[in-house]
Amino acid sequence: MAIQQKLSLMIPGPTPVPEKVLQALGKHPIGHRTKEFQDLVERTTKNLKWLHQTKNDVLTITGSGTAAMEAAIINTLSKGDKVICGDNGKFGQRWVKVAKEFGLNVIKVDAKWGSPLNPESFKQILNDDFNKEIKAVILTHSETSTGVINDLQTISSHIIAHKKALSIIDCVTSIGACDVPVDEWGLDIVASGSQKGYMMPPGLSFVSMSQKAWQATEKSNLPKFYLDLKSYKKSILNNSNPYTPAVNLVFALDESLKMMKEEGLENIFKRHSRHKLAVSDAAITLNLKLFADKNHLSPSITAIELEDIDAEVFRKKIKEDYDILIAGGQDHLKGKIFRIGHLGYVNDRDIISVIAAISNTLLDMGKISCNQAGEALKIAMKDLKTI
Ligand SMILES: *Cc1c(COP(=O)(O)O)cnc(C)c1O
Repeated sequence: MAIQQKLSLMIPGPTPVPEKVLQALGKHPIGHRTKEFQDLVERTTKNLKWLHQTKNDVLTITGSGTAAMEAAIINTLSKGDKVICGDNGKFGQRWVKVAKEFGLNVIKVDAKWGSPLNPESFKQILNDDFNKEIKAVILTHSETSTGVINDLQTISSHIIAHKKALSIIDCVTSIGACDVPVDEWGLDIVASGSQKGYMMPPGLSFVSMSQKAWQATEKSNLPKFYLDLKSYKKSILNNSNPYTPAVNLVFALDESLKMMKEEGLENIFKRHSRHKLAVSDAAITLNLKLFADKNHLSPSITAIELEDIDAEVFRKKIKEDYDILIAGGQDHLKGKIFRIGHLGYVNDRDIISVIAAISNTLLDMGKISCNQAGEALKIAMKDLKTI
């Protein structure tokens, strides 16, 4: 039994938090209507725009990622509006549910779990919409439940060609992990959450809003109060918040964004990319099957299929023996897959440890040879050095 006090969090959120960020959380709160707090908000807002590669407004909400997505929907749409929802996993499914809950008329574009959404399907529906009835396209960039990354750049180009529809994108496990150039790709609304690529505890979420998205808010008639983004926009002009923000989480955000700037966007993306490569190559070497289409692997999470082992038993053993928490499968995938989060504050050592833990567990179970276990680490080490 390993010491259970040194948890290695290899799930796709919450993700590990650096000491500097934890220390920022432990400071005394300050008044949220003070100059000191306004200076903080001014800085975090500027740095959030840097992270999103945008000139658009990026608003901070107290709430998890779902709050940001719900805000996007209820602020720009009206009851009965026609929207396209991409659905190729648990999160895509959630946005279909939210859209229906608010009385939207949902056209679903789906793909099998583990496969990417087909951009051509979006193109076709948007092209055929002669009367410009489609008001928004809602989709998930990195589908955390399956480890698939969707081709957002191409889908966005089809949305732009339609001219009327807004893009409402869940970038919760892509922002801070891979390139999401909001302005260059013309993304209207991008939602994300603090406990993922931001290297922070849960509690804050972020929404970036284009001019076109703000125009849409003028027509939206869905009920809203706490998540009325117009009140956030009005406050942000004064580096303020409409309600009491989670002051200590904003301290933490300030630190995490500073750390991200020190590392640089390119380096952050490269780190996630080599971790993805190392984990997926090691899995293949261990005769394990990647659940996601191998040309569409998410930078933040690798889902691995187990054939004759219960994935729940497998990940419990890894937790007990090594104090490494990996995620299980959701819904029908429970027991069938496990998921390794390599998102946020993750270094090469974390990757080597998780691969060694998986290899050793398979070895214990008599599923692989010593040689294979060695080969998996060898290829992972090579990947970690090459990018
Ligand atoms: C984690 C996650 C969310 C947000 O979920 P919350 O529990 O509300 O923070 C949304 N979308 C994706 C793809 C996620 O991975």
